[in-house]
Amino acid sequence: MEIIGAAVAFIVGTAGGSFLNVCIYRLPRGMSIITPRSHCFHCDTELGTADLVPLLSYLWLRGLCRYCGVRISGRYFLVELVTGLAFAALYLHHRGAIFDFVSAALFAGVLIPVFFIDLEYTLIPAELTAAGMLIGVGSDLLKLLVGQGQPLEWLVPGTTWLIQIPASLVGLCLGGAVFASIVVLGRVLFGREAMGGGDVHLAAAIGAKLGPGYAFLTFFLLAVGLGALIGVLLIALRLRSRQDYIPFGPFMVVSAFLLLFWGEALTRLIRQCYPWP
Ligand SMILES: [Zn+2]
Repeated sequence: MEIIGAAVAFIVGTAGGSFLNVCIYRLPRGMSIITPRSHCFHCDTELGTADLVPLLSYLWLRGLCRYCGVRISGRYFLVELVTGLAFAALYLHHRGAIFDFVSAALFAGVLIPVFFIDLEYTLIPAELTAAGMLIGVGSDLLKLLVGQGQPLEWLVPGTTWLIQIPASLVGLCLGGAVFASIVVLGRVLFGREAMGGGDVHLAAAIGAKLGPGYAFLTFFLLAVGLGALIGVLLIALRLRSRQDYIPFGPFMVVSAFLLLFWGEALTRLIRQCYPWP
């Protein structure tokens, strides 16, 4: 049964990936993601249903436009495949817990276009980060409403007032605050932009999804570690110079994905390496 569910999740994911391709092309150009229908970017012919079957159309047409023969970026195929695989893996990971799966899959649907857009244009569209925050906070509030989740509790010092706050809201503020401080520090200490506003919004969205606990700390350490490692490698291999701006969003996306799948194991590992309280 589980394998059928995963197969369905894969197919839904590839169709979702097809839509994410539209987002990746149009959002950085300030175009609507709803209208008009998809066109070939080269000959402008409106694409028919047979051109829009996820994965298969690309393979069948061998990556060429049916109408003008222009080569279509392999990214289209890659995004559909990655989204399909992510959905199937998340389905299996949540063992059929539909609510958690849908929430994680939607969040993955935000992370994937952020990765590709930031990589190519070094910008993170606000539409995507806003959607991420909405998914993070919305799924948390829904869980609290049906009595499944656990809010954070805070005893106001010197009183008996116990304040309950949804973890996602605290995570959102924490994520935003931590990364906003890095932006300010970068400006003051180095006089340059270490990150952009899009990174701050993305951190807030990921904070909303992960909550403010050790999971977020683990995400942060992973993202910074990955960024430093790849940055040093790129400079050592002379693919980038010290002056080049290397987008940080893709590292945040990869780390957030790792946390979506192996959050508990990774957090445990980090806590063993650094025995915090
Ligand atoms: Zn064409």
